Amino acid sequence: MKSEIENLPAGRQGLKSKIALPVMEHFYTLQGEGYHQGKAAYFIRLGGCDVGCVWCDVKDSWDAERHPLLKIEDLILNISKTPSQIVVVTGGEPLMHDLDELTSVLQSAGLKTNIETSGAHPLSGKWNWICLSPKKFKAPLPEILPLANELKIVVFNKSDFDWAEKYAALVSPQCKLYLQPEWDNAAQMTPLIIDYIKANPKWELSLQIHKYIHVP
Ligand code: SF4
Repeated sequence: MKSEIENLPAGRQGLKSKIALPVMEHFYTLQGEGYHQGKAAYFIRLGGCDVGCVWCDVKDSWDAERHPLLKIEDLILNISKTPSQIVVVTGGEPLMHDLDELTSVLQSAGLKTNIETSGAHPLSGKWNWICLSPKKFKAPLPEILPLANELKIVVFNKSDFDWAEKYAALVSPQCKLYLQPEWDNAAQMTPLIIDYIKANPKWELSLQIHKYIHVP
């Protein structure tokens, strides 16, 4: 009898890996934020984060040891049960882990690799898209700034506009710029963000549409 790996479509075979990562959850959904908003994507949420955002909506992710170690091989098997073309690696702070093996296997399987990171840890892995979302609580490492395809600033209060401009000046000219209201403050901050974008049209609005349409 063929193994599950052997039953995979051509191009997704031979992808066995012994490497395992702490996975809080993994699921197929729509990307709710930023440049790829609205696209189908398979999410891998890794455990572990030492950034400490006070408004973090995934605090359960912080302690990596609370989450089971999953083999990359098993993640690929699950992804292959969907027609997803994009895998978003998020957290927690995914760059607390060495992601070279994960992204190598995903790209070998013909999947696009996207990451959402605060940039506070050294970059590992090969990425088709880097969404950098720097946080005030632990600054991003300077070397990731020119590599970001997308800068996503979570706006919690008015002072965050000046802070956003500081990072906009440090990313590449091609980097897409997004302002996203912090979810619990969205009613107060969204009107201010709209006014700010109208005055500074290099920025675009990112909404967490997955929370409006009630998907994970
Ligand atoms: S970087 Fe992300 S996961 Fe970590 S504390 Fe901040 S919002 Fe939460």
